[in-house]
Amino acid sequence: MTKTVLVTGGAGYIGSHACKALANAGYRPVAYDSLVYGHKEAVRWGPFVQGDIGDKALLLKTLADFDVSAVMHFAAFAYVGESVHKPEIYFRNNVVNSLNLLDCMREAGVGRIVFSSTCATYGIPDEMPIRETTPQRPVNPYGESKLMVEKLLYWHEGPHGIRSAALRYFNAAGADPEGETGESHDPETHLIPLVLDAAAGKRADIGIFGTDYDTPDGSAVRDYIHVRDLAEAHVLAIGHLEKGGESLRLNLGTGQGYSVRQVIAEAEAVTGRKIPVKESPRRAGDPPALVADPSEANRILGWTPKVSDLKTILKTAWAWHQR
Ligand code: UDP
Repeated sequence: MTKTVLVTGGAGYIGSHACKALANAGYRPVAYDSLVYGHKEAVRWGPFVQGDIGDKALLLKTLADFDVSAVMHFAAFAYVGESVHKPEIYFRNNVVNSLNLLDCMREAGVGRIVFSSTCATYGIPDEMPIRETTPQRPVNPYGESKLMVEKLLYWHEGPHGIRSAALRYFNAAGADPEGETGESHDPETHLIPLVLDAAAGKRADIGIFGTDYDTPDGSAVRDYIHVRDLAEAHVLAIGHLEKGGESLRLNLGTGQGYSVRQVIAEAEAVTGRKIPVKESPRRAGDPPALVADPSEANRILGWTPKVSDLKTILKTAWAWHQR
């Protein structure tokens, strides 16, 4: 029998890739999305329910109507800068509504959840690469809200038997290699889509936020992971929980960092365009470097990134950008 997975935020960037990966693995993904940031056109691999995760009645009805056996929870606000100025909406939407979702899962008897967490839960880490045991000390309300949900999940396991996989993504990037879905944020704040906008002449230049970091070229270093590889890790995590595997907290990255300047140089190579840069001050709250140690995800799930080399990330993102 086909198993059904409720995908909150299923019309979003990572959620839509997860729906495709689930469908390819033989699951039925039900995308549940408020469409505040998601896009209806990104729902292509299963049924769609438009709703907010704060809406308990609709969530309960959806879990029952579709006979949901597990949840992938992506729905969240994810603008770090905005979270600093409006923490209340991050705690309400990301934390309170996740508690609401857990209440509904408990009532409906759904005992498995894969949660979209983030390397932002580590804040400015004391060790590099970052391991799952590296202390989590977020430096903004976005990261704090995600850490709080990890803790909700932890405390729900003992009494309620809800097992979870919290997947801490590093920098999600790239687009579906078959061109069926990709990144489209409004407003866009992420480096790679903005660099490609500059390559396409849709913006005059790309600001390099910080040129005086203690990194090889002075710009900030991140670990870019292709969204297809992220989606596959989610499917593996669902499989792990289905087989009775224990709850997980895993980093999803490549283990290889690239600086802002390196990303721009590679984007020039991939697009064949000159990309004007503007050296700019550091962005508040940005750590100098964030690079994963992804060995636990490999050991436990057998996961290895397949399309996360920087060239493939940029090529797929550029193809999507030009569609
Ligand atoms: N960045 C930049 N210029 C931009 C956008 C981002 O230099 O216009 C830098 C940012 O400061 C960070 C890196 O690129 O060091 C990745 O930023 P992004 O917003 O894509 O992801 P984050 O690491 O904040 O999750």
